[in-house]
Amino acid sequence: MIIFVGRSNVGKSTLIFRLTGKWVKRGKRPGVTRRPVEVNWRGKVIVDMPGFGFMSGVPRHVQERIKDEIVHFIEDNAEGIELAVLVVDGKAAPEIIERWEKRGEIPIDVEFYGFLRELGIPVVVAVNKMDRIRNVGKTINFLAEKFGVPPGEIESTFVPISAKFGKNLLELRKLMEEKLKRER
Ligand code: GDP
Repeated sequence: MIIFVGRSNVGKSTLIFRLTGKWVKRGKRPGVTRRPVEVNWRGKVIVDMPGFGFMSGVPRHVQERIKDEIVHFIEDNAEGIELAVLVVDGKAAPEIIERWEKRGEIPIDVEFYGFLRELGIPVVVAVNKMDRIRNVGKTINFLAEKFGVPPGEIESTFVPISAKFGKNLLELRKLMEEKLKRER
């Protein structure tokens, strides 16, 4: 099983559509359908987790519940999860991370990355919306530092993509295949 995780609105549905040709988008009201959505991909099951974090119009306690459900799903299925693709909005993520850190809180993307790695799940970070990022290298180095990824592992962990414009998806697929081949 391969899971896709990320904050809402990072482009996760667009990316899964690009990779599988299947549209996993839920209803118009975010956070309402919280059950993971499954699609088949190259003989594997891709599970689209609900978006986590802030969603306009969704009360905070509902956001917290969604996050708890995602955490429980991952814990309960950790053995069967061969790979996680963490999708971040490359344009928005650095600002959001800095804002959370200034408040003394652990940014949710940082938390999820650490959580997945603690469970021994290989993670590829798809840095989406690269069409909107001015300095891609700088953005990735910033994220790597925040996620605690050592310089030697940046290239095998992060890949800048544009789901909307279909950019670098081959590179993403390659990275996913490599991680799937490797032992945990
Ligand atoms: P999800 O909530 O994570 O599933 O996000 P969606 O796939 O619904 O995308 C959220 C918004 O981001 C939509 O307006 C998409 O068109 C847009 N989007 C997705 N990928 C990209 C991208 O690579 N570049 C840009 N500029 N916008 C994107």
